[in-house]
Amino acid sequence: MRRLSVFGATGSIGVNTLDLIARDGAARGWRVVALTGGRNVALLARQARSLGAELAVTAHAEAYAELKAALAGSGVEAAAGPAALLEAAERPADWVMSAIVGAAGLAPGFRALAQGGTLALANKESLVTAGPLLLAEARRHGATILPVDSEHSAIFQALAGEDIAAVERIVITASGGPFRCWPKERLAAATVAEAVAHPNWAMGRRISIDSATLFNKALELIETREYFGVAPERIEVVVHPQSVVHALVGFADGALMAHLGAPDMRHAIGYALNWPRRRPLPVARLDLVALGQLTFEAPDPERFPALRLAREVMATGGLAGAAFNAAKEVALDAFIDGGLGFPAMAEVVEAALDRLSAGAGLTIAPSGLDDVLEMDHLARATAAAIIRERRQRE
Ligand code: NDP
Repeated sequence: MRRLSVFGATGSIGVNTLDLIARDGAARGWRVVALTGGRNVALLARQARSLGAELAVTAHAEAYAELKAALAGSGVEAAAGPAALLEAAERPADWVMSAIVGAAGLAPGFRALAQGGTLALANKESLVTAGPLLLAEARRHGATILPVDSEHSAIFQALAGEDIAAVERIVITASGGPFRCWPKERLAAATVAEAVAHPNWAMGRRISIDSATLFNKALELIETREYFGVAPERIEVVVHPQSVVHALVGFADGALMAHLGAPDMRHAIGYALNWPRRRPLPVARLDLVALGQLTFEAPDPERFPALRLAREVMATGGLAGAAFNAAKEVALDAFIDGGLGFPAMAEVVEAALDRLSAGAGLTIAPSGLDDVLEMDHLARATAAAIIRERRQRE
């Protein structure tokens, strides 16, 4: 019997994962161990009931009573709070989906690796903030990390049976987001609703806004570097508005292997669920003639500075990824709350990195998760201070 847990079950990736589990789970003898969520306790309870999970955990301690009441009579155990999330990660499971959004997803995924099973990694922040630690922990316990980000799943698939030493370049694609054609002057007035309206993918709110700034692609650039161990100068980003080609791998002989598919995360999730086999998935099949054309263009570094910042972060190494992600999360929160304009997000992140690079610590290789979390706190405080100073000046 295969045992599965889903962290971030109530989110966009989580819901898609449970959709696939619900379709196949009974026939294939799967057992759902733990499901976790955040504020959406009602959905979490419904999911846990319908899949007969052993345990449901909300990240918020104060939501325990609500969850317990919603699960009354179901036989599903309820738990709440960050410590309960870590305990859920210790429940024996063969396959764990890591789909909590943000740096909050790092510790539970890290803890799950100790079981030596498979970690399906949607939480890109884990690799950005603590890539070398995460990969070392997986090696230590004989665990497998499978990428779930569509670009990284695409690269992983293009590399199947290939020698990584023969890889000349990796190209990841970006849709360009909703503001791809907006002039620079207009970006200052971009609203949250406009930023969330991704042209091709239906995703959570935070990653949708990160797609509009290209911070999502910036995180993915670092994620590619960390997961595949390819030098930063060999990784390219191209804007591909149709979001049909997810990534390409170029080999020493000049061949370029592309992965194409409809923009539906159930492909990458299903690949990680069924790996190393391929099984039928309920995703649309591409009609190439109807598509007509696939186009590619260079990203504009002036309107979207996030990619340049990611390259600087990779050059710095050490804890720069943790600082970058934390500052980005704070700037994103401020944009969502209406306290920061759209272009100011990148300005805040850049200013925070500048300020942090003046002190010690950014270049130090972390020796454990505590170092990463310490830098995360410091970068959050730094970014928050920069935002306060900006407001005072305005
Ligand atoms: P969502 O915002 O839709 O969902 C996030 C999940 O995390 C929800 O279950 C949420 O609970 C939970 N959560 C939020 N904050 C916390 C916290 N502090 N502690 C514990 N749990 C928390 O995100 P997505 O599903 O879009 O993204 C999840 C991850 O996958 C991200 O790292 C994202 O970058 C990555 N990813 C997403 C893709 C997509 O298509 N959506 C594509 C590729 C990668 P609740 O909603 O109940 O509050």
